[in-house]
Amino acid sequence: MRKLYIAGNWKMNKTSSSAVKYAEELLKADIDKNVKVMVAPSFVCLADVCRVLKGSGIIVAAQNLNEHDSGAYTGEVSCEMLKDIGVNDVIIGHSERRLYYGETDSIVNLKIKKALSENMNVILCVGETLEQRESGLLEKVLHDQITIGLKDINPDDMKKITVAYEPVWAIGTGKTATPEDAQSAHAYIRSLIKNQFGSLVGDNTIIQYGGSVKPENVRALMDCEDIDGALVGGASLKIDQFLPIINVYK
Ligand code: PEP
Repeated sequence: MRKLYIAGNWKMNKTSSSAVKYAEELLKADIDKNVKVMVAPSFVCLADVCRVLKGSGIIVAAQNLNEHDSGAYTGEVSCEMLKDIGVNDVIIGHSERRLYYGETDSIVNLKIKKALSENMNVILCVGETLEQRESGLLEKVLHDQITIGLKDINPDDMKKITVAYEPVWAIGTGKTATPEDAQSAHAYIRSLIKNQFGSLVGDNTIIQYGGSVKPENVRALMDCEDIDGALVGGASLKIDQFLPIINVYK
């Protein structure tokens, strides 16, 4: 049985003080106990938000990490640094990282392996651009992102991996994939995972949808068979928008 998993990616938003204020409100909020909840603040806010949410069951994740252990990688953050402040979860391969910072499927694979070697949980983001979709490349793009991104991962470690299907054209644009389009991409991703890791792993892997999820459209998306949660950007920045998304079935 896959548990609904709602995650908020705050991207490059919020200072430590506003992030802490939000976390304190989240702590007091009436949250559906059947939902797994995560927030991903920027690196500089992580330690403070972890302190507030410690023991609450709400997951605090990083938005990225570096694939190396340590050394001369100016501006980067390692697994060890994250774990030291209590962060055990990380988003890897977000389309903004792929687009603006040149992260390839192979780099994504190295980052995932590093995170798993440190026993961290991962949200692997995949999704096509509008141009790729319109050129009929949707399945090829997803195929490469999944098979290369998850290359040489031990099937046992797949319980630490969540996949987020985020069509790039729907991120921050206000355009959402229709539930039918999203469901069909999710079913395809699940079939790829089944091929690579077996049916049981495929059936148990949580696949989130991301791309302009809002309180008004979340229910129709979450009702789809292969959609098990949401990775939310813009609407996770305000608690009065994020809470109704978390509590979609409450
Ligand atoms: C995201 O950045 O992962 C995202 C889905 O953003 P938004 O909800 O703003 O489209």
